[in-house]
Amino acid sequence: MQHQTNDALSRRNFLKAGVGAAALLSTFRLDETLIKEAMSQIRGGGVSVLWIHGAACQACTVSLLNTTYPDVTDVLLGTLPQVKLDLDYQTVLMLKWGNEALEALKNPQKDYLLLVEGSIQTKNDGTFCTIGEIDGKPVTMKDWVTKLAKDALAVIAIGTCASYGGIPAGAPNPTGAVGTTDFLGTNYRSRLNFPIVNIPGCPPHPDWMVGTLTSLILATKKLYPFPELDSLGRPTMYFERSIHDDCPRRGLYDEGNFAEKFGHDGCIYKLGCKGPISYADCNSRKWNNGLTSCTISGAPCIACVQPEFPDKSSPFFDALPIPALSYKEAAGVGVAVGGALAGAYWLRARKEKHRVEH
Ligand code: SF4
Ligand code: SF4
Repeated sequence: MQHQTNDALSRRNFLKAGVGAAALLSTFRLDETLIKEAMSQIRGGGVSVLWIHGAACQACTVSLLNTTYPDVTDVLLGTLPQVKLDLDYQTVLMLKWGNEALEALKNPQKDYLLLVEGSIQTKNDGTFCTIGEIDGKPVTMKDWVTKLAKDALAVIAIGTCASYGGIPAGAPNPTGAVGTTDFLGTNYRSRLNFPIVNIPGCPPHPDWMVGTLTSLILATKKLYPFPELDSLGRPTMYFERSIHDDCPRRGLYDEGNFAEKFGHDGCIYKLGCKGPISYADCNSRKWNNGLTSCTISGAPCIACVQPEFPDKSSPFFDALPIPALSYKEAAGVGVAVGGALAGAYWLRARKEKHRVEH
């Protein structure tokens, strides 16, 4: 593919390139050149990124650092002249510290995207998690999210903890940890009238983060449509198909060939795989620079992208309480039955989760 230079890229051609980028962002690998061309269009009107951490292990940030196309420094740190994205606050990656760093949260000077990593503590008035101080008083994560969400161009929840509560919200959830949508409310809309975008995963794939962030930056400039989201707030370009749909062991499942022990041939459904009820493109995109995935490497999918993770997707090595249907059995009862069983399973799980938290 030939790419035009930045100077030669008229608005019309750029919009065409943007449509191309839309397709490429969702393909197996991100197209570095197109992303840079897209980013160059917002040069001079830099978008600030305020990335704050609640209850999290920082693995989402570490996963982001594994992005290769484009390189994370190109995208986030603005080290290439044609890329203008200002990472004004990011606990792990930013160069500033102390009061100078905190100033970006206290008095944002530019339009900004709010990225939330980790869940938000609500019990004890949020004092389980604080970031910095104002006038000698610690400021809670929940107060930062409340303040910064008001003026954000868009709010993005990075990882399952920020999206749905994740591990910190596991029963008995002593800190009252919740995801960003539970905290801000399903009716929340950003300054540009965007709903919260969830990029779940424990951690999320770097492509999901970079691709969504890039498309959202362009959406704030009206150069790219706001990404389509599913009912759980996830971009459909990454979270539409199930792990099971694209699994290389799927033929073994359909034949009823199930492994009884790890390391044995066969589908690992009976060893706890939650692939049939988990939605992400791990098995087509693959992880570790396109090398492998959980089920490819012989480990069960633990449904880390689902709101029910971890309480209702565990024990991780126990088979789902819905029957595995071999190809012959499925042909007899119809695929719809499998879907209905999975739906019923998650519905029950969500009701029970609700009971635990409230
Ligand atoms: S290993 Fe999991 S995702 Fe793959 S076919 Fe078996 S049940 Fe489906
Ligand atoms: S295969 Fe399942 S557990 Fe593994 S990263 Fe993907 S969604 Fe998460």
